[in-house]
Amino acid sequence: MGRRGLFAGSLALGALAGGRWASVPAAAAALRRTAVPGTVPRLVPMRPHADQITDIKVCLRPFRAAGPRLDVERVGEKVVIHNYGHGGSGWSLSWGSAEMAVGKAAALSPRRVAVVGCGVIGLTTALTAQRAGLDVTIYTRDLLPHTRSVRANGSWTPDSRVALTAPAGPQFADTWERMARYSWKSYRDYLGLPGNPIDFRDSYVLSDTPFDAPESEPENPGHKGDYASTGMPQQSSEFASYGERIRDIIPAAELLSAQENPFSVPYARRAPLMIFNFGAYGHLLLSEFYQAGGRIVIREFHTPADMKTLPEPVIINCPGYAARDLWGDRSLIPVRGQTAWLPPQPDAAYGVRYKGASALSKSDGLMIQGFDMSGLGEMDGVGNSFEHADRSEAEKAIGIFENLFARFPAVQG
Ligand SMILES: Cc1cc2nc3c(=O)[nH]c(=O)nc-3n(C[C@H](O)[C@H](O)[C@H](O)COP(=O)(O)OP(=O)(O)OC[C@H]3O[C@@H](n4cnc5c(N)ncnc54)[C@H](O)[C@@H]3O)c2cc1C
Repeated sequence: MGRRGLFAGSLALGALAGGRWASVPAAAAALRRTAVPGTVPRLVPMRPHADQITDIKVCLRPFRAAGPRLDVERVGEKVVIHNYGHGGSGWSLSWGSAEMAVGKAAALSPRRVAVVGCGVIGLTTALTAQRAGLDVTIYTRDLLPHTRSVRANGSWTPDSRVALTAPAGPQFADTWERMARYSWKSYRDYLGLPGNPIDFRDSYVLSDTPFDAPESEPENPGHKGDYASTGMPQQSSEFASYGERIRDIIPAAELLSAQENPFSVPYARRAPLMIFNFGAYGHLLLSEFYQAGGRIVIREFHTPADMKTLPEPVIINCPGYAARDLWGDRSLIPVRGQTAWLPPQPDAAYGVRYKGASALSKSDGLMIQGFDMSGLGEMDGVGNSFEHADRSEAEKAIGIFENLFARFPAVQG
């Protein structure tokens, strides 16, 4: 999750309107509510300690400046429809992106399709194709539990490093909105199910300074221009921000008064955040796919020409970041991210974001991610393809919450 993920699920916080780093006091004030006395939820403190780490996962966000690749090309006799490059938003946009890719496939009226890849994009694409009445086989090197997808954070972050404003242009903004709305609606069908594959958490954003204090563009000391002149993003301000477009369906955040704020940090706001519990949700998607007659073939492709050997006439290509090598797509830029996992803490079912790190209590563990601990904003991890765990980074992120909860609660009796 990028810095903008700080505001995920709370796009109506107003922090992004009127300029990426500008603040919007009027919007924030308008959202302010006073809780009915006695209704402020009492939070059980999280227990984040470095000696509780069970796993550290590293992932490369498949970022493309122009946004996800969804075009169609021919490889010999085969029609290949691409569906990859969703940056830090693949979980969030998966159903909407699948709907678009499958729409292109269905227009060709095939009886059966192949889907390459079984990450969240491949799996939702395969299910969407089945729902359109197609006979689907997934060809993949790895099943979902071993893909990069499950090394993510797993929150609703639909415009987290998904494109750069200028290269993507206004047309992608419309595409994004359609994807985001379709996905949001699709996820509603998975709420309230056994195991809570999809759930909501109260997410607290904490700050030592007022939310309406002017925020400056984060420093990127090495920056040398912009994407147009270098082929790499250089500044946070180049990253696209589309959240305002779906403000009408995303629960708004509320500023907490001193009496409502249980944290020993002066400023706090809270918003419901949609989350994806990887274990339960992944298992459900795979079961649904098999129950609908889907087949999975474990297979690795080495070049686009390998697609010619598949029996299906239409192929939807969902290899994620691996398209950089498989398809020679150099427009894919790695954006490294890391999450540390601690034992689940179901009694503390909420999320907190503070000092560039995020702690989120999910059914499959207490997840802690330092998404911007160096103050680089959206540039954090950009161009970094080091896909190995960095324990010191994990411990630093955990330390932020260890300190926070050592001073907890601030006001509760
Ligand atoms: C730290 C971090 C946090 C994130 N947090 C969030 C978040 O909170 N919310 C959100 O929406 N998104 C988040 N993301 C982004 C999200 O994880 C990605 O956009 C998404 O996982 C991409 O999924 P995918 O299916 O395209 O790719 P992958 O998960 O990489 O799947 C690719 C599939 O293709 C297969 N494949 C690859 N190459 C070949 C080959 N040569 N032959 C055969 N098969 C092949 C693989 O085996 C795999 O099955 C985060 C990412 C990171 C790194």
